[in-house]
Amino acid sequence: MDKLALQKLRDLPIEVVAERLGLRVSRHKSLCPFHEDHHASLSFSLRRNTCRCFACMNESLGTIDLVMRRLGKDFRDACRWLANENNILIEEHRPLESPRTAVTQKPSDTQRPLDPQKPSDPQRPFDASRYARFFERPWLSESACEFLYGERRLDVRVVRWCRLTSWQDRQGVNWLQIPYFDQEGHLIGIQNRNLDYRKASPSEGGREGTPRFRFPQGARCSIYNLPVIRMLKEGEPLYITEGCSDCWAMLSSGHKAIAIPSATLLKPSDVETLSGLSARLKTTFHMFPDRDLPGERLFLQLQQLLPNLEHHQLPPGCKDYSEYYLSMGKEAGHG
Ligand SMILES: [Zn+2]
Repeated sequence: MDKLALQKLRDLPIEVVAERLGLRVSRHKSLCPFHEDHHASLSFSLRRNTCRCFACMNESLGTIDLVMRRLGKDFRDACRWLANENNILIEEHRPLESPRTAVTQKPSDTQRPLDPQKPSDPQRPFDASRYARFFERPWLSESACEFLYGERRLDVRVVRWCRLTSWQDRQGVNWLQIPYFDQEGHLIGIQNRNLDYRKASPSEGGREGTPRFRFPQGARCSIYNLPVIRMLKEGEPLYITEGCSDCWAMLSSGHKAIAIPSATLLKPSDVETLSGLSARLKTTFHMFPDRDLPGERLFLQLQQLLPNLEHHQLPPGCKDYSEYYLSMGKEAGHG
């Protein structure tokens, strides 16, 4: 692919690219599709032609990066997609040895600021071997216990099943480390949740300095808690939640559950896995959508993919399943 064509792809207006990818941009902001977002955290910079979510990204994304992340494509396929969408002709050069040759030549490093602590090569796959050992012996810090048991009142068996662990970074920030496994139990991704996020105020720079979520390079966090699928019995319902926390609450109330961050992030293979379940085990799918627009939208999108998805209404005053779960605990006298 020649440099001129690449530059054309990089210069496509970022907001137009985002809209093509299904994001609704309004006043240079949109809901971030990469975490459970309800506040339009993804901001667009027209000057730099990039976008960035201050809750879950350490660096800005250009047009090609955005396509890669949003559609789960590698660099070349993302370029192809952008070129096709915009009728830009790209000449491709075929590396002889390995596709990596093309990767090292990509000039995007000059264009976007890199976090020196976390050099990012979007092509590099998730290195599970580097992280897997963290989850062999999960360890929960005091603030992790406070969050999981004090605040969320989760069942200890659920926390163990999910192999949640915690760590503290050099700046003293406490993180909860949430592993994503495939059905066979192989680690495929990690989500780091900032346990101190609530305490950090924007005036102290807490919000900018430490994002709420962090994903290691190449982490594939699409469906959460896939190993539960292997435990499903015939005819048993499977609950679908919007994020990990609701999934833990659902599991703690004794339901088998998975979490899906957004319908558009689902890979075709994920959809196949789920629809295969209803054919094979007569699984019915159930959901308590969040009591807001994104919640209902996710339900409708998922229902397109899983026609036997049943809607359950959260009671008034509970905006998501976690709140409902906590309120049930109080009624039962455990709170
Ligand atoms: Zn985000």
